Amino acid sequence: MQKKYKLSVVVPVYNEEKNLPVFLERTLAVLKKLRCEYEIIFAMDPSRDRTREMILEYRAKNPSIKLLEFSRRFGQPAATLAGIHYCTGDACIIIDADLQDPPELMEAMVEKWQEGYHVAFGQRVSRTGETWVKILVSYVGYWVINRISQVAIPRNTGDFRLISREVIEELRGLKEGHGFLRGLVGFVGFSQVAVPYSRDPRLAGQGNYNRFLGSLTIGFNGIVGFSRYPLQFISLGGLFISFISFLTAIVYIALSLAGVHIPWGNPTLVILISSLSGLQLLSIGIMGEYVGRIYDEVRDRPMYIVSGAHGFQPRAKPVRARRGGRA
Ligand code: UDP
Ligand code: MG
Repeated sequence: MQKKYKLSVVVPVYNEEKNLPVFLERTLAVLKKLRCEYEIIFAMDPSRDRTREMILEYRAKNPSIKLLEFSRRFGQPAATLAGIHYCTGDACIIIDADLQDPPELMEAMVEKWQEGYHVAFGQRVSRTGETWVKILVSYVGYWVINRISQVAIPRNTGDFRLISREVIEELRGLKEGHGFLRGLVGFVGFSQVAVPYSRDPRLAGQGNYNRFLGSLTIGFNGIVGFSRYPLQFISLGGLFISFISFLTAIVYIALSLAGVHIPWGNPTLVILISSLSGLQLLSIGIMGEYVGRIYDEVRDRPMYIVSGAHGFQPRAKPVRARRGGRA
């Protein structure tokens, strides 16, 4: 018999009225089996359907079901972080409401945690119902991220994972809102273990992301947020091109000294100018991306604004973390 513990389940939701009943039924069944104390925190972006009313109805019957509301749609990553900031369990499981992440896997995650791991992440072995575009973007994205970033981010994982109280506290201390939770969890470190599962198609409703752009943005955040490599790449590229043009100049001088007539072709100029201006624009763009991030950090805006908290003690509200400080 394990000692008593409390589990927090954090669920970002947005327009999920169709999935909520089955989600809660399956999740509550697992929690009952685990026989632990629990809380289910729905971190809800303002939804156009009955999601809010339904959660409050469930909450009236079961006070362990809690609701965090935001003043506007801050998006899934911010909602998830808010849930992590507010949760009070000894461990927290992040799971989507659309049942693409099977709640039954929570049992295996808790087992790993009790073995002593701090992070147990769901790793997809199959991805039913996902388009090949999303699978391709994700494959290439992880390949790039893991080659160039300083933090290891396991392939085929989403945010579906269990994190221990220690990891939660470290995440509370970070002040980064770029929405690449996997990367942040990787950054924080601690012992991590994979729990394999097959990812089901969405139970009902449409995914709220533009599949292609959404995956691309997340991948891009992963790269820029966790690597300075693109900046180094620019410098290296610049150096390489300068070296080539220096060599070309020497060749031209040598040839004209040797009395060779060199035809100066338009094509050469056009190619040179266009390739160089392309490279310059790309470099400025990449720099701009980092500068933009510095700007975001300097403004120090909150990642989310909570407009309603149902079921939370006032003290549960985190003091806003300052850069370099603790929450
Ligand atoms: N979600 C959210 N805010 C948003 C979009 C989505 O809280 O702006 C929630 C959504 O309700 C679901 C989870 O985030 O529980 C994952 O969303 P979705 O299934 O659309 O993404 P995908 O499975 O394609 O990654
Ligand atoms: Mg989904």
